[in-house]
Amino acid sequence: METKTIPNSKNGHSLNGINIDDIGDDHLFTSLDTPMKENAFEMSNEEKKKRIAILFTEIMDVLGLDLTDDSLQGTPDRVAKMYIEEIFSGLDPKNKPKVALFDNKYQYNQMLVEKDITFYSNCEHHFVPITGKAHVAYISSGKVIGLSKLNRIVQYYAKRPQVQERLTQQIANELKTVLETEDVAVIIDAKHLCVSSRGVKDNTSATVTTYYGGKFNTAEKINELQNYINN
Ligand SMILES: [Zn+2]
Repeated sequence: METKTIPNSKNGHSLNGINIDDIGDDHLFTSLDTPMKENAFEMSNEEKKKRIAILFTEIMDVLGLDLTDDSLQGTPDRVAKMYIEEIFSGLDPKNKPKVALFDNKYQYNQMLVEKDITFYSNCEHHFVPITGKAHVAYISSGKVIGLSKLNRIVQYYAKRPQVQERLTQQIANELKTVLETEDVAVIIDAKHLCVSSRGVKDNTSATVTTYYGGKFNTAEKINELQNYINN
């Protein structure tokens, strides 16, 4: 099979002969920030949906599908709407959850854990689902946020083309910023459909990624956290 070598990255660095299949199959990623164009939000959402529908029609047509069939006719519009309003809505900073902090001196120094947050994301290398659970925790600096906000932060970053390591880091960074503390932990346990349904076709493996910041970075705290999560 012919594979394409990526010519040069945008910084002008060569990728040392790594080809596009290696990047996808090994799930390599290049930066903590989701790579976005500078003018990513010049086009309105309505225009984006129109463009995506036209382009998706083209993909379906090339695949040989009959777009006059009643079942397929509306698919390009449905896909476009789903991309912009649902599964990739986390690309738009306007959709970032607004988080209010509350003072709560009684919870000072306590560990708060929100476990088993189910999320659905998509692999940025293959555009097929990543599904899993996120467990997030923080040690209160005297400030707390509503538990539902922890869930919303996870969902916001999941609704992007993602790689699991970056998702973990982006959630951790956001928690550190909103909670004004380094003491946050994020554990993500997920399945990648690009691994289970194609490529190596392994449908039992799961990938676990972790971030332990500040006071979480000790064996004792990691144990304590693991106990909460496993019980
Ligand atoms: Zn993938």
